[in-house]
Amino acid sequence: MSLTGKVAVVTGGGRGIGKAIAMRLAQDGAKVAIWDLADHEHVADELRAHQTEAAFVAVNVTDSDSVAQAVEETIAQLGSVDILVNNAGITKDSLLMRMDEAQWDAVLNVNLKGAYLCSKAVLRTMIKNRFGRIVNIASVVGLMGNPGQTNYAASKAGLIGFSKSLAREVASRGITVNVVAPGFIASEMTDALNEKQREALLSQIPMGEIGRAEDIADGVWFLSADVSRYITGQVLNINGGLLMV
Ligand code: NAD
Repeated sequence: MSLTGKVAVVTGGGRGIGKAIAMRLAQDGAKVAIWDLADHEHVADELRAHQTEAAFVAVNVTDSDSVAQAVEETIAQLGSVDILVNNAGITKDSLLMRMDEAQWDAVLNVNLKGAYLCSKAVLRTMIKNRFGRIVNIASVVGLMGNPGQTNYAASKAGLIGFSKSLAREVASRGITVNVVAPGFIASEMTDALNEKQREALLSQIPMGEIGRAEDIADGVWFLSADVSRYITGQVLNINGGLLMV
């Protein structure tokens, strides 16, 4: 198991894609801290049931004090932070003409500022260890755009520029920074689509199916493991061919 002894933090790890990432990293031997705003202590319990050392840490990624406290708690419980997955993300969709400032700020704060605060907070430890893996979860929308999602697309495109810049800053310290950009992934939202909406969505995807959270988790695992030691500043698109760049 290539992640044995490593400590991974997964923001927004309490459900959805983040939970699948937490499970995948644990499966390969990592100790996992679930950082989430909502109370998902049960995910840490599930991980412990599989003989993984795990912690649930209540955190708001938009609040620097909360993030600083989460780092302290994680190190106290699990010993270090070697892998950070900035996965916490929200949407507040609206056409720009109707988008109010609160919708803009909320999405930029969680999706972009959150990644900045969490990365900054774990960097000292990673530099000291001369090892780190940061994986940021963007979206195909950050590369293609999507009507009704100017705030979300800006946050995800911003995350890509952020990642490439940070990758250049810390490459000589043994730290890699990469992005996984998911396409459409099965979720409560995609489950709620009617047949017509589903067909319209599938017609855009060459592979003809919606992705699974596990597909994203495998990409994050790859970028966290030793096999990817020489990869930094890259965007891994996992989208069934929806966008080819
Ligand atoms: P989700 O809503 O199911 O889960 C997000 C988690 O983040 C929740 O547990 C929530 O409590 C947590 N969170 C939200 N705000 C937070 C905050 N301020 N501090 C800490 N935690 C917070 O989302 P998902 O569909 O699993 O998406 C996960 C990531 O993948 C997001 O960044 C999203 O933008 C991205 N993504 C998702 C899809 C998709 O199809 N689901 C596609 C592309 C990208």
